[in-house]
Formats: sequence, structure tokens, C-alpha cells
Amino acid sequence: MNRTTLPHDRAPGSPQPMLAGEKSSTEMFLVKLFAVVPALALAAAVPLAWGWGLGWVDIGLAAFFYTLTCLGVTVGFHRYFTHGAFTANRGLRIALAVTGSMAMQGPVVGWVADHRRHHAFSDREGDPHSPWRFGTSGRALAKGFWHAHMGWMFDREQTNAARFAPDLLADRDIQRVDRLFPVLTAVTLLAPALAGGLISMSWWGALTAFFWASLVRVAVLHHVTWSVNSICHMIGDRPFTARDKSANFWPLAILSMGESWHNSHHADPTCARHGVRRGQLDISARLIRGFELLGWATRVRWPKPERLARNLKGNTA
Ligand SMILES: [Zn+2]
Ligand SMILES: [Zn+2]
Repeated sequence: MNRTTLPHDRAPGSPQPMLAGEKSSTEMFLVKLFAVVPALALAAAVPLAWGWGLGWVDIGLAAFFYTLTCLGVTVGFHRYFTHGAFTANRGLRIALAVTGSMAMQGPVVGWVADHRRHHAFSDREGDPHSPWRFGTSGRALAKGFWHAHMGWMFDREQTNAARFAPDLLADRDIQRVDRLFPVLTAVTLLAPALAGGLISMSWWGALTAFFWASLVRVAVLHHVTWSVNSICHMIGDRPFTARDKSANFWPLAILSMGESWHNSHHADPTCARHGVRRGQLDISARLIRGFELLGWATRVRWPKPERLARNLKGNTA
């Protein structure tokens, strides 16, 4: 954990350090149980199932649908629809809304409204998913991690799209894709099964593709996206000045397709590239560059050296 104390770690009037005490052994046990055991079980299932319940077709389909839907979220829902990091032509705009919806993270308008609210109130009162909501004690952080990772979705409160996403509510194409969310959910679950069945010409091939390339793929992407909300507001480097606790967490750079450079993102939210420093792989930014070369994306907001320098910590000019 990065133990740097940020100015807003201390609430006015009541100086509070960022960390207080340590997690109890029960809490540590529960974190391991829920975070590590399912991942180990999944890893163990791969060699166990290899050759009868898992093969290269399943792996290929899972990788294809993971990449397609992850980029739909990162390039589409996040960088384009939420932050306007570039301008897309109509075909690309619709394609990004469709592929993002196929990640099963909710319809596009609600996703964008939640995320704009996150940036408006990041790590303060009003943020839909801050891990710091309950305080800074070990117990509060364990509860906060769960809340930021997935607990927040079970809250009944709904972000007001009329306030946070009026541009999307006014767009007829996007409204149509938004309403098609149940259909796109069926497509994202059934298409891998159909492809697996046709390639292997067997029902068994359809079933294994459904398990790995539909269910497991959706679950892994869910956890990667949620980790940006939870882990990337708790652990990592903070080279840039941001008014929240966002952090760059390098181990997730590839699986999150560049979204885990989250401190850089909060420092400059409309920037099309999040991995702005040397060696920071950002697959989403590469794809946006491809769209730009094809002429489908224009007015791309690439990082500006002077803005980067201004946001770097220690540079108060
Ligand atoms: Zn964030
Ligand atoms: Zn964002």
C-alpha cells in the first residue's frame, strides 16, 4: 500500500491519518477466502478440464470476446462516451455502444452517468463507489473495498441520468442501443456457444464454449473493471496530483487494457491515453490511434507535455 499522505487525507478539524491499526486475522482470512480462493479454483480448473472440457477453441473464443467487450468498455463507455476523449463517426459510435453493452456491466446511459458521478465526487460524499466511504480503519477499509468492488451495485440509489448524461439521453441511436441491452446480453452469452458448437460440430463444444467464453470471460472482465474502482483507488503509485486517492496499479495494465493507470486518468480525465509515461502499456490508446488513422475518430485528445508536467507532483507552477 502506498503510504503517502495526501492533503485531503486529513479532514478539516479532525486530523486523521490514512491508516489506523491493522486488519484482524479474521478480516485477513476473509479477504483471502473471497479474493484468492475463487481465482485459485479457476486456475486449477484449467489443467483439470484440459482435453475434455476445455480446448484451444474455448481459449480462442474467450480471448476474442474478452478483448472485444473490454475495449467496448474502455474505449467506448469510458474514454469516448463518459469523457469525450475523441470524436467518433456515427458507425463507430454505435459499434462502441454495442460492444460495451456486451460486457454486461449495464446499459450505456446508466454506466456513463455512474462514472461521471464518480469523477465529480471522487472519494468524497456522493461518489457511488469509493473504497474510503466508511473511513480509514482496517475494518472500514475491508468494508470499503467490498463496497467499491461490487457492493455499490446492490445499493438501491440510482444516478440521475438527466443530470449526468443528458447528451446520451438526447441521442436516438444511443437510446436505441440502451433499450437493446437485454438482447445484447443474450447475444454476448449465446454467440460464443454458437461459434463453439459450429467449429466443433458438437453440442459438447457449444457447452464448453458457453462455460469458458461466456460465463468465465464475463466474470473475469467484471472483476478487472471492478478492480479499477476498488484496488486502483487504494494501492499503487501516485505520480500525479489528483484530488482523490486514485493510483496507478501496474499488474492490471494488460488485462484492463490501460485502465489501471488510474492516477494519471484522474489527473487528466479527458485524455485519450491513460498510460502517459514511458513504458506504460495502454492497449486502448493504441486502438484509438488506429481509429484515428482510419479516419473514424477525430479530434483525439492526446497527452500534452506541458499539461503532464503541470500535473506531476512537486511541480506547483
Ligand atoms: Zn476512479
Ligand atoms: Zn474516468
